[in-house]
Amino acid sequence: MLHIMSQDTGKIGALQTGLFANDYREEPYWWSAAPLPSADENNEPAGLGGRADVVIVGGGITGLVAAIYLARAGCDVAVVDAQRIGEGAARRNAGFVGRTLKRSVEWLAQKSGREHALKVYRELDAAMRGVQAFVEREGIECHYQTCGRFIAANSTAHFRALIAELEQTRQAVGFDYSVVEKHDVHAEIASDSYHGGAVIPDLGSIHPGLYHAGLVRKALDAGVRLYPLTNVVGIDHTANEKTVRTSRGDIAAPHVIVATNGYTSRDLRWLARRVIPFRGFVIATELLPPETIDKVIPRRRTYLDTRMNIDFIRTAPDSSRILFGGMTGTASPTATPLAGALRDRLVRILPDLKGVRLSRAWTGHCAGTFDFMPHIGTKDGVHFALGYNFAGIPLGTHFGEKLAARILQRGDMSSAFDVEKFPTVPFFNGSPWFVPLAMRYFDWHDDRIAKG
Ligand SMILES: Cc1cc2nc3c(=O)[nH]c(=O)nc-3n(C[C@H](O)[C@H](O)[C@H](O)COP(=O)(O)OP(=O)(O)OC[C@H]3O[C@@H](n4cnc5c(N)ncnc54)[C@H](O)[C@@H]3O)c2cc1C
Repeated sequence: MLHIMSQDTGKIGALQTGLFANDYREEPYWWSAAPLPSADENNEPAGLGGRADVVIVGGGITGLVAAIYLARAGCDVAVVDAQRIGEGAARRNAGFVGRTLKRSVEWLAQKSGREHALKVYRELDAAMRGVQAFVEREGIECHYQTCGRFIAANSTAHFRALIAELEQTRQAVGFDYSVVEKHDVHAEIASDSYHGGAVIPDLGSIHPGLYHAGLVRKALDAGVRLYPLTNVVGIDHTANEKTVRTSRGDIAAPHVIVATNGYTSRDLRWLARRVIPFRGFVIATELLPPETIDKVIPRRRTYLDTRMNIDFIRTAPDSSRILFGGMTGTASPTATPLAGALRDRLVRILPDLKGVRLSRAWTGHCAGTFDFMPHIGTKDGVHFALGYNFAGIPLGTHFGEKLAARILQRGDMSSAFDVEKFPTVPFFNGSPWFVPLAMRYFDWHDDRIAKG
């Protein structure tokens, strides 16, 4: 038995040998190349300073992108975060860059009209493309790659539904894809689990830790003030002024942005009642020989399946190991207890990895919404963007700029995701007790579709 320290809980647990490599830790793989900034690196000013032009709650992707644009336009910007800067989902995600949306273009067209559906999908595309344009323009070294994505169908019925939806989307908005028949799956992934699939060639991947570290650097260069370990407990507002109440004192500003996503605390009650936090889990294998990677995922794309509760696979940017995510929504505050089950799931998909050991496992909060749509808007004079449902790298980058545009009153501030209705349900207060049940329902639903 090995004794392993969980970085997230500080607890020491006895763990199965054969599962964990000697360097195992519960910590995002990305933090090795992009450790969380210390208070010194944050250049943290001594006090909150009482006033700012803009206060931003949340120092993830959304908050920092907004901060960069606002500070460059001459605003005095203070970013406050309850954790260390980047300790939210920004440096915990899987680094897939895509046009992920749970609602199809046809579903949206029926619900809110074809014109709105097309606007949503075009904006998603702009958000996805915007990441590459942004990192190139800013010179952020974060391994952006247009690797393409393979979507693997879990059954013949899933395959038919996948191709039908991709074809509808191509006809509506022109997004390209190619069909992969069942007998060609091994050219993409060494797995017998799938019944065909599709490749979307223009989707990408990124090192999320280095991306966020780049945002921190750009924000500091632009003069943004960063306040980690500063919890916002309330926002009071009058017509022209808001007071952000924090664990380290108050700070007043004419403009406030809330960019708290899956970490939105119940103190921010109106938003907490609309965002459903649920946990995502990721493991990283030990170092693997290049021949193994060549064999199991020769094209080194990003991979996910067609279930509502997806499994997802990619290589580390240097192709040295495989990262795998799944069991989303499980009610475990840490990833280590799920590491064995996650590895079993990975090996069921890729049997060549039998016996592989793990170097990292981690968890982070994703943000769902009751209408499965991301939202940007303004409530009581406070601007917000959240509920990204697994598409936070493109949407965080895109909405960060949109939020800045709102405050600067730029012509490009509108968004198709800014809709009047941001639904909640009675008695929901931000506690996601029902998420494991919902995930079981999705599994049942996926199995029913699979049976045709
Ligand atoms: C395991 C996992 C895998 C994912 N994979 C992908 C992927 O492959 N591709 C993709 O595009 N997206 C993915 N996502 C989603 C993506 O990471 C998020 O949508 C994105 O990071 C959201 O960025 P953000 O800046 O809005 O929020 P975050 O990065 O979560 O930052 C929010 C911040 O708000 C702070 N905060 C909350 N409440 C308060 C308060 N009261 N006071 C002060 N601060 C507060 C938190 O401390 C936190 O740091 C994944 C998420 C997870 C968890």
